Amino acid sequence: AAKAAGKNCVRTAGHTIDSAMGRRAQLAADLPTALEEEQFRVVYQPVAGVEDRRILGLEALVRWDHPVLGTVPPDEFIELAEADGLIVPLQQWVLRKATADFAGLLVDDRDLKLGVNVSVRHLQAGCLAPDVAAALADSGVPPHRLMIEVTESIMLDAEDRLQSDLATLRDMGCIISLDDFGRGYSSLAYLARLPVDVLKMDREFIGDIESDPRGAALVAAVIDLGRTLGMDVVAEGVETAGQLHALRDMECRYVQGWLLGRPMAIEDLPAFLEAFDPAILDAQPSDVDTD
Ligand code: C2E
Ligand code: MG
Ligand code: MG
Ligand code: MG
Repeated sequence: AAKAAGKNCVRTAGHTIDSAMGRRAQLAADLPTALEEEQFRVVYQPVAGVEDRRILGLEALVRWDHPVLGTVPPDEFIELAEADGLIVPLQQWVLRKATADFAGLLVDDRDLKLGVNVSVRHLQAGCLAPDVAAALADSGVPPHRLMIEVTESIMLDAEDRLQSDLATLRDMGCIISLDDFGRGYSSLAYLARLPVDVLKMDREFIGDIESDPRGAALVAAVIDLGRTLGMDVVAEGVETAGQLHALRDMECRYVQGWLLGRPMAIEDLPAFLEAFDPAILDAQPSDVDTD
């Protein structure tokens, strides 16, 4: 790490990163080195079953520990990696890391699922299914434990490819989820055509659920839609007891968000799972916090 820091300091010596453009350009320039030197790390956020009253899944989320800029969130660098082809090696690394970490946890056999976000660029490159298969084989994680999370907003130009590759992954036994559902353009059209098992409702809709009746009605409608189509629905970004209460009233079965747990290092998961108190899922309106 010290060596990595040294290298990057030389590259950025004398520069002040004071504009978004400057930061973006620097991140893009530093990505190849970051891959070579494995400056990435994966954290895991729990997904809870409301009726089951326990943690049912973990979502793998990548972080970049930049030697100069500190921790960089994926929203800042995934797109950059997609733009210059580095997304494939990055995604391969994430798949291998996440499945290997997860295999270590499986000894407890809690029947957890592992969610991994994938990029449509990786699908377009034509090697997502084989890369997933290799990561599963090497880690020993059974395919039915792996949920592939695809974001609909970038599917537009890759639909045929996407359909067949997702079908391949599904035939292998993997679970397919449509991530950030509701945020992109053609959600309903995708739903009609793609082999999808799970809808992850974008957190934008969850944030206003208590104060905005129309927003709440939309969320309820998505939950009904999922039920009608035989898909599981996960509400993302659940931060307050009030939101959880509202979701439970709508019979939303799966929730993810800071209320349940923040993304954490794999080392912290066994203690977290051990200490998880299902009472948090019993949120009542009177528990509603005011922040
Ligand atoms: P996502 O898949 O929708 O992941 C959920 C995001 O919401 C995560 O942001 C998570 O930290 C954040 N989050 C979870 N609970 C809460 C909450 O209660 N409140 C708020 N405000 N936020 C919450 P993160 O980790 O920054 O990831 C952002 C996006 O980057 C992800 O959205 C995903 O699309 C993408 N991403 C992350 N890891 C990977 C990866 O390995 N490969 C690819 N291709 N994309 C990734
Ligand atoms: Mg996701
Ligand atoms: Mg999402
Ligand atoms: Mg996303």
